[in-house]
Amino acid sequence: MSKKSVVSEAQEIQLAIELIQLGARLQLLESEVSLSRERLIKLYKELKGVSPPKGMLPFSTDWFLTWQPNIHSSLYINIYKFLVDNAGASGVQAVMKAYQLYLEQMPPEPGEEPLLSLTRAWTLVRFFQGNMLVLAPCAKCQGKFVVNPLDLNDSYHCGLCNMPSRAGKTRKAKDAAASAS
Ligand SMILES: [Zn+2]
Repeated sequence: MSKKSVVSEAQEIQLAIELIQLGARLQLLESEVSLSRERLIKLYKELKGVSPPKGMLPFSTDWFLTWQPNIHSSLYINIYKFLVDNAGASGVQAVMKAYQLYLEQMPPEPGEEPLLSLTRAWTLVRFFQGNMLVLAPCAKCQGKFVVNPLDLNDSYHCGLCNMPSRAGKTRKAKDAAASAS
């Protein structure tokens, strides 16, 4: 095992704390922080007072394409790309900074979880890196939205220009939000 300096270990702990406070799941922590699983679980329990939830992350791109999550995801990825292209942000730091700005734009209702969790945001960035999702301009408002590159996106209309008839806090949107965390 390589010897790590106390400083770099302290930085890893600081990173883990920030990620946990933003709502990261264990799988995200294990990918981004070079601390042992045991230490991450211990940190998580200490900060949250409970064990991290078990289970794998969802790997489907479908969630990001449903109506309300698509609007939140599109906002997030636009912020993320702006930070990477214009502010020199990179890696997990860019994911976190963009997430903080997303929360400022879309603060959750009191007592409710944000619609897009940090872990979902991180997954979204990975889908973009793998070109499993891309941005396409809306033909009406010119805003850029998350789409599946395999779909026909030539005359794409975004979820804001083409609202479903029962837009708003529908049961479906709430269920989507609940399954996001
Ligand atoms: Zn539009």
